[in-house]
Amino acid sequence: MIKVAKFGGSSVANARQFQKVEAILKEDPTRKIVVLSACGKSEENPHKVTDLLYLCEANQRYGMDAEPIVKLIGEKHAEIIKELNIDFDLEKEMDEIRQIIKQKKSLDYLVSRGEYLSCKIMAAYLNAQFVDAKDVICMNYDGSFDLNKTKEKLQPYLEIQNTLIVPGFYGSLPNGNIRIMSRGGSDITGAILANVVDADVYENWTDVSGIYVADPRMIPHPKRIDVITYQELREMSYMGANVLHEDAIFPVISKDIPIQIRNTNKKDNPGTLIVNKIENDTSAAPITGITGKKGFVAISASTRHTSSEVGFLKKALEIMEHYRISLTSVVTGVDSFSFVFSKEDHEGDIYSVLSDLKENLGCDDVSVLEDVALICIVGRGMKSRLGMSGSVFGELGKNKINIRTISQGPEEISIIVGVAEEDFEKAIEAIYHKFITAEEGK
Ligand code: ASP
Repeated sequence: MIKVAKFGGSSVANARQFQKVEAILKEDPTRKIVVLSACGKSEENPHKVTDLLYLCEANQRYGMDAEPIVKLIGEKHAEIIKELNIDFDLEKEMDEIRQIIKQKKSLDYLVSRGEYLSCKIMAAYLNAQFVDAKDVICMNYDGSFDLNKTKEKLQPYLEIQNTLIVPGFYGSLPNGNIRIMSRGGSDITGAILANVVDADVYENWTDVSGIYVADPRMIPHPKRIDVITYQELREMSYMGANVLHEDAIFPVISKDIPIQIRNTNKKDNPGTLIVNKIENDTSAAPITGITGKKGFVAISASTRHTSSEVGFLKKALEIMEHYRISLTSVVTGVDSFSFVFSKEDHEGDIYSVLSDLKENLGCDDVSVLEDVALICIVGRGMKSRLGMSGSVFGELGKNKINIRTISQGPEEISIIVGVAEEDFEKAIEAIYHKFITAEEGK
């Protein structure tokens, strides 16, 4: 049995959190590979080390002194080292950071120092083996991962009878230079390592007890999801549930490795298990999760060409492509169609799209609905249940919520409804109470 355990920034935010990680690792020696983020925010110190490192670079770039920020980074780590009572040459590490800034070495190198430091300190505290990610996580020049080379480089370390502490978020390019991943990338490091060692489970330790059926900011104390499939998680993440870095799923899915989301502050809570498939999955609840986002636009056009002219929809889609608009949903009727997309990056394009649809494509009538919120009801259990969408729509109707758009994924594991943004919270509450609270009471 071998487990890869990744701890996020909040799990290493101060000395108390380091001690919690220690307790978790002591409890189960199969947690052989440990990936850490850089120290995150804590009550007493509200800065993420990674943010501070980015800030150092920005200061330097604009001719400002980065030293006050370097000092903050030093103080944050010094406090941890002092409270853990370990022997650690922090000054040497801080001087290296100063040199990187002064000599304008790469941003990637500088920003990677957050996870490098948290791991060096953890390894010193636990007497564990520090393994620099630049020596094992092998990346190609395009940022993709070389799994074979990573496996080969990691192999000798696996022979060591000790826990391996590996910094997340960075690796090295074929020329040996450090390359960072996108923000939150330590999740990816954990997934890559789980892949190459064929881990039995990839544990992702954070500050929440798994994934919840609905956002706790909207539904107080929502139910925790025990088990969710990757496919369901993809649907939920796409619509706003922010659990894992999305690129962390592919390396583990390809090997059928389950991911377990767990809480460093409540280590006995089983959290949520994310799996590829569930055998004999007959007892799934109708709804696994409810999620959603505000900030969408729905553009509709009516024209008789929609169903009668071969290739008409393609031409309409080409207009969207021209404006580089990625669509969240496409709904077609006999004489009409509508496209839903995120307003954020395309607010300025809306009227040009409308004009192109009308003038260039000859649509008779075009209209736009702004301030649309999409609510995504996800559940593998919906497939086998008749009348699910009917009950969702009925419940929204009962609560006087007007549905603006409807779509169901072909896999039948999600129903997405568009409502006015002002109805968003009310709609989520209504669905939660109908399908979760009421079901529990049965
Ligand atoms: N420290 C990096 C960040 O803040 C990576 C990570 O925590 O996963 O984005």
